[in-house]
Amino acid sequence: MRVLVTGGAGYIGSHAVRALTRAGHQPLVLDNLVYGHADIVRDVLGVPLVNGQVGNPDVLQPLLKGTHPDLVGSVFEAKTIEAVLHFAAYAYVGESVADPAKYYRNNLGDTLTLLEALVGGDHPIPIVFSSTCATYGPPQSIPMTEGHPQAPINPYGRSKWMVEHLLRDFCKAYGLPSVIFRYFNAAGADPDGDLGEDHDPETHLIPRVLDVMSGRESYLQIFGDDYPTPDGTCIRDYIHVSDLADAHVLGLERLLRLRERNELPNEPLIYNLGNGTGYSVQQVIEAAKSVTGRGLLAHVAKRREGDPAQLVASAERARVELGWRPRYPELHTIIDHAWRWHQRRHLS
Ligand code: UDP
Repeated sequence: MRVLVTGGAGYIGSHAVRALTRAGHQPLVLDNLVYGHADIVRDVLGVPLVNGQVGNPDVLQPLLKGTHPDLVGSVFEAKTIEAVLHFAAYAYVGESVADPAKYYRNNLGDTLTLLEALVGGDHPIPIVFSSTCATYGPPQSIPMTEGHPQAPINPYGRSKWMVEHLLRDFCKAYGLPSVIFRYFNAAGADPDGDLGEDHDPETHLIPRVLDVMSGRESYLQIFGDDYPTPDGTCIRDYIHVSDLADAHVLGLERLLRLRERNELPNEPLIYNLGNGTGYSVQQVIEAAKSVTGRGLLAHVAKRREGDPAQLVASAERARVELGWRPRYPELHTIIDHAWRWHQRRHLS
């Protein structure tokens, strides 16, 4: 199946491209390359890449129809796109507070343009959307199920939450088939070592720990050690990025099966993606020491605004309905794969 992957040059999107290819689908990447990496798409994934903005109908429409000049000679030429995985988004919480317009324009406005295009033809084109546990806001109960109340506390989380509403409305009104995945903490890297996380700036815990262990950074800040958790540091549910990617293929395939059988519900399918196990910042540091055999200098800093003490998913629904079984649930494995990638990307 021909699948447009927006944000396919980014961290999670690039792993999804690989999962699609391995499942026998044909991915086409649309990415504005603000944070994405063209070299990964061209040299590692080997799939067509179009540099453009999701919110630009002059790029989007011809891509969906196969008439874009960059598609000449490819399997996409003169063929319509059959499904979309929509990853393209900005994802820095702090920046979203400082510059919400950038987040609403890109994450919400551009997605509206995309959805209008998807329902503009004879048949709506199914979409799988990357949402986040940040749409829940502060947890009221742990583990968090899909029914947990949603009260996001920053513009990034709100931009994703608003898109969830768009999808609900488009599903009801236009029959747009959609899946919403709410990720917990994406981490790790493809076990082959040639895909992984490469953000600039890097804000995520595991790559920052590895940056310090490899000498790229001099010390780690632990954002608060006075949380109501056993060791006082925040607990998160780290999920391997290749497991996230696999879930997208399963979600898409379920959507298409339901459509074939005329059993599509008139609302999006919604799934949390996490392991259901939480690890503290301190536990992540200890696991990373054991993986790399290296130590690190860490200072306790003040709490980061908006960080809840604990976020842990219940992904029971994805297990039951999609048959999703994370292949790499162990924190040690997740960090080991991240370390392989880190060494290859940054130290060789
Ligand atoms: N964290 C930390 N130091 C860092 C980066 C993150 O102590 O340099 C903590 C952060 O406060 C949170 C956890 O590690 O409790 C995971 O943070 P990350 O940014 O990776 O993901 P988030 O949970 O914010 O999506």
